[in-house]
Amino acid sequence: MDHFERRGGVLHAEDVPIPRIAEAVGTPFYVYASATLRRHAQVFRAGVGEDALVAFSVKALSNVAVLKVLASEGLGADIVSGGELARARSAGIPGERIVFSGVGKTRAEMTAALEARIYQFNVESEAELRTLSEVASARGSVAPVALRVNPDVDAGTLDKISTGRKDDKFGVPWERAPALYDLARRLPGIEARGVDLHIGSQIASLAPFEAAARRAGDLIEHLRAEGHDIDRLDLGGGLGIPYGDGVTPPDPAAYAAALRRVTDALDVRLVFEPGRMIAGNAGLMIAGVIYTKAQEARSFAILDAGMNDLIRPALYGARHAIVPVAERDGDPSPFDVVGPVCETTDLFARDVPLTAPAPGDILAFKTAGAYGAVQASQYNTRPLIPEVLVDGDRFAVVRRRPSTEDMLALEELPDWTDRPAD
Ligand SMILES: *Cc1c(COP(=O)(O)O)cnc(C)c1O
Repeated sequence: MDHFERRGGVLHAEDVPIPRIAEAVGTPFYVYASATLRRHAQVFRAGVGEDALVAFSVKALSNVAVLKVLASEGLGADIVSGGELARARSAGIPGERIVFSGVGKTRAEMTAALEARIYQFNVESEAELRTLSEVASARGSVAPVALRVNPDVDAGTLDKISTGRKDDKFGVPWERAPALYDLARRLPGIEARGVDLHIGSQIASLAPFEAAARRAGDLIEHLRAEGHDIDRLDLGGGLGIPYGDGVTPPDPAAYAAALRRVTDALDVRLVFEPGRMIAGNAGLMIAGVIYTKAQEARSFAILDAGMNDLIRPALYGARHAIVPVAERDGDPSPFDVVGPVCETTDLFARDVPLTAPAPGDILAFKTAGAYGAVQASQYNTRPLIPEVLVDGDRFAVVRRRPSTEDMLALEELPDWTDRPAD
């Protein structure tokens, strides 16, 4: 469900015609619908229950204005860096709704998170546990911890976004978990309160989630029998969404119902870290056609957006539906839609049906809200593209396009570049 509809043949974001934004902002850009973000937050919270903590995975879409919309719906933040902590805080998300994931937290990041009094550190190794103990006890605080355990389930998703198998780098091995909880109990500055897992992303069936949650339940019962006070279970994120490629993942209500059923008897507070499910189809990438060209058997539409702006197709072979913003009469023919970046992999999709595309036309990439803008780079010295937030009939640029001067501003010439080498 989204709020990008056609009216009179023209694609709108809520009540705003996309061409109006394109005129004001210039292509390419990302556009997000507040109504979709809100709706997803509401549906998810209603499914998992108001008492659960729903911590939006900030890495999926980290714009502060977007975080603020989600915060106002009661969502917290799942962060993976000190930078994301700063974003969550500037969006007004209180520490008690922040969980900190990731395999490589630094001492400085731990300190900042302790200062913010976050809800939970999701600890991924013994070394991290020991470091957190040092950092926390040195400042006289106690870090609430969940150990991220690796349930060794195959989420059945793409190899590159699977995280819960025993050979993936995430979490601590299942067999090691009880010993680490014992260690946590002995370490100063640590309070082990929970079990955490996250098995991957874009998962299209319930079975791996249920299997992982069941294993976590067994572990919690085992730990409690050993005298550990476990009162939280963090089930991570990973629920897939439809990308128009024929795969239909379970809806959030079914997902929530299944996980609540499996964990019902445990008497724990549930934590969820959804990213893609909240943000994915709340965003479009809008790009303009620069040229078309026909070559041998293929025709190309060359856009002003490239793989540096939306890397998912090049990185994961991901598919995004690409549609014209304004419909045109006539028969479509197949075009390979490419960007201007000097790489062969700068190819968004082959054989997209387009009707007489011409320079100046605008195209929309659907389901681009998650892992789109956040993974953009300035490769080829192309500026990061703006992000626009729509709310009803209003829109605002919530991240502007940097100027060329902005892009060069961090670079300096050492004075010896003027002198010839000896
Ligand atoms: C990426 C990530 C998420 C969010 O995953 P989605 O597939 O976007 O829901 C949640 N938790 C952790 C630890 C992650 O790394």
